[in-house]
Amino acid sequence: MYAFDFEKPGSIADAVAALKDEDAQALGGGQTLIPTLKQRLAMPSKLVSLTGIAEMQGISKAGGEIVIGGATPHAAVADGVAGDYPALAELAAHIGDPAVRNRGTIGGSLANNDPAACYPAAALGSGATIVTDRREIVADDYFQGMFTTALDEGEIVTGVRFPVPEKASYMKFEQPASRFALVGVFVAKYADGVRVAVTGASEEGVFRWSEAEAALSSDFSPAALDGLSVPADGMISDLHGSGAYRAHLVAVMAKRAVAAAG
Ligand SMILES: Cc1cc2nc3c(=O)[nH]c(=O)nc-3n(C[C@H](O)[C@H](O)[C@H](O)COP(=O)(O)OP(=O)(O)OC[C@H]3O[C@@H](n4cnc5c(N)ncnc54)[C@H](O)[C@@H]3O)c2cc1C
Repeated sequence: MYAFDFEKPGSIADAVAALKDEDAQALGGGQTLIPTLKQRLAMPSKLVSLTGIAEMQGISKAGGEIVIGGATPHAAVADGVAGDYPALAELAAHIGDPAVRNRGTIGGSLANNDPAACYPAAALGSGATIVTDRREIVADDYFQGMFTTALDEGEIVTGVRFPVPEKASYMKFEQPASRFALVGVFVAKYADGVRVAVTGASEEGVFRWSEAEAALSSDFSPAALDGLSVPADGMISDLHGSGAYRAHLVAVMAKRAVAAAG
């Protein structure tokens, strides 16, 4: 690790100001960033911790949506939304291990946009809105490819708003060592249609499977997905699984998600 300065502001405004320094970087739960620093893959001049900002913590409800503070750890999401949005709670409860869930934050996960992360599937699959210190970004515009988002330099994810669906489920085929998704499929049924978001599979990061969405919007049953598949081209191929294997898993996990959502 390189030497760096450290600040722990108590408000979003102070964090935004602290992040204006050259090469300053936000720190959420550190579950991704700290290992990156240890491997000397990043060299920020200053880390600005967001976990002491009360207005970025916790869960509330407003206008049919669940609002989650950007610095809320996964374990708190798992507990806090279990009654209102069980599929999201289950997703959070199966991220990594207890240490990751107690430190890692939803804002950090969405800012990082790891192609195998779970929250991007929930946010895109729910049509969530990402709230930052300066604007609101709908999920369809927010995710822009592997490790790439619409966030500008120094922009902070202060919260996320999730519309609550009628039914939903997330099915993850875990990479057993890390518990990241080899393939994860989030299915959510709303009054105006079904959304299907896939993580872990594509070289472009999380994506919506529009063919499945159309089929499920007219018939919300696993059988509606019979014969549908995603092309293996553009799927991630690595030591954990080939592109063809991941493409196959997308259809399998989508069916399982629909069955579990009921
Ligand atoms: C062993 C292990 C297993 C894991 N398994 C899973 C899994 O199964 N599913 C899954 O989804 N994830 C998994 N993760 C990732 C985990 O969820 C991390 O918590 C997450 O990727 C990053 O969140 P963080 O709060 O730790 O962010 P940090 O590591 O602190 O930061 C990550 C990046 O986001 C930026 N950042 C942090 N917070 C904000 C913010 N509020 N606004 C803007 N930028 C911000 C940082 O500058 C940095 O670039 C795993 C991690 C580990 C170590």
